[in-house]
Amino acid sequence: MSRSAVREIQVSGIRVHRDEVVVPAQIGDAVHGLLTCPAAPLVTGSLRAKGRTVRLADFPRCDDPSGDFDARLYLATCPQQDGTTAAIAAAAAPGDALSATAARAAVEEWAAVSGSRTLLLAGSPWCSGAMHAASAATQAASECRGTGRQVHVLAPAAIPDETAIALDDLGAVITSSLAEVDPGDVVVVPAHGATAEMRAEAIRRGATIVDATCPLVAAAQTAASRSADRGQQLVLIGQPGHASTATIASQAPGGVTIVDTPAKTAAVRAGDSRQLSYLIQPGVTLEAGAPIVTALRSRYPAVRSAVPADVCYAPSDRAGTIYSVALGSELMLVLGDPQAPDTKQVCGYARDSGTRVQTIAGVPDIRPAMLTSVDTIGLAESTSAPVGLAAQVIGALSGLGRLSLARRRLTTEKSTVGV
Ligand code: SF4
Repeated sequence: MSRSAVREIQVSGIRVHRDEVVVPAQIGDAVHGLLTCPAAPLVTGSLRAKGRTVRLADFPRCDDPSGDFDARLYLATCPQQDGTTAAIAAAAAPGDALSATAARAAVEEWAAVSGSRTLLLAGSPWCSGAMHAASAATQAASECRGTGRQVHVLAPAAIPDETAIALDDLGAVITSSLAEVDPGDVVVVPAHGATAEMRAEAIRRGATIVDATCPLVAAAQTAASRSADRGQQLVLIGQPGHASTATIASQAPGGVTIVDTPAKTAAVRAGDSRQLSYLIQPGVTLEAGAPIVTALRSRYPAVRSAVPADVCYAPSDRAGTIYSVALGSELMLVLGDPQAPDTKQVCGYARDSGTRVQTIAGVPDIRPAMLTSVDTIGLAESTSAPVGLAAQVIGALSGLGRLSLARRRLTTEKSTVGV
């Protein structure tokens, strides 16, 4: 890893106040020409974390004047993947020793961890079912715009932030209540489906239903309904609070036992195991579901899967991708709200690899010490990651030297026997 020396340049033509540090986004450098500073958000973040007042401003020219000058600029350069040169820089007013010390220290600490790196990306946190529902909701909202027909997308919508923003712009609402639905309105059922009661209520109110239920969730709902029709008991291996758990269980009132650990299979009561079936809730990984199936089968050997052909591999593929990316990295960055359940789950998959994991809610959360002696960084997004955060992190890290990007995504391919 090559590290760049920090130069001090006396600059005129830019006003820097006492007690502030100015971080440039661009610098007109006499040696290199125009330098961009993609790492500016990193430099700004570490200065603000130390309580410094920071302002962003471009430095159109930084020739070293022979006489009076307006700022001391501390600057290190590093090569970029495209052959250009970038700068890591910060400036303070002449005679402001405290700010100058802070500016130099910030540039030095980021220059010390500059160098060529690989960023291994774990791909989108959104599955095909969620993306299909996002697209169906957006299309419904576009078609209804200006017609007086309100579009209601049932919550939790489980869609990317950018889709939620687009829906809001188009006048659609994301809601868990149908109280405001008028005749002629449109109700969009999201990927995890709707309970039987919600569907009935939407129809009773005269709404048109746009059904974006994921086919795999729909298959699980049908299996639950079929099980109830036959008078059978169904063990739903799933998360009690998950939206699709409720929509599946609603198809067989009183006939479903929800189990989320092997130990809880002790609560299952069935006289005849041939009258018992199970299904793994779409959204739960097969790896989490399998030990529960084993525990269930130890008590009911004849228990069968209610949907043997309609398995959702997306959660397992995502978990495997994150584990694999983390395993191939020296540091794993997980983007998103640290308190969000999905962020905690992603961190768990990454930690299983033994790799160091850092949750990043914003670019300023990245600290120089995290990158010391790190050549390969893994990056995974939680569904709670704000719009554009991944691009901001990639952009900022690119300002520390050549950054090559690689994407890894594990997918399970289904095929028919003999094909
Ligand atoms: S069933 Fe699978 S693909 Fe469908 S919405 Fe759920 S996680 Fe996504």
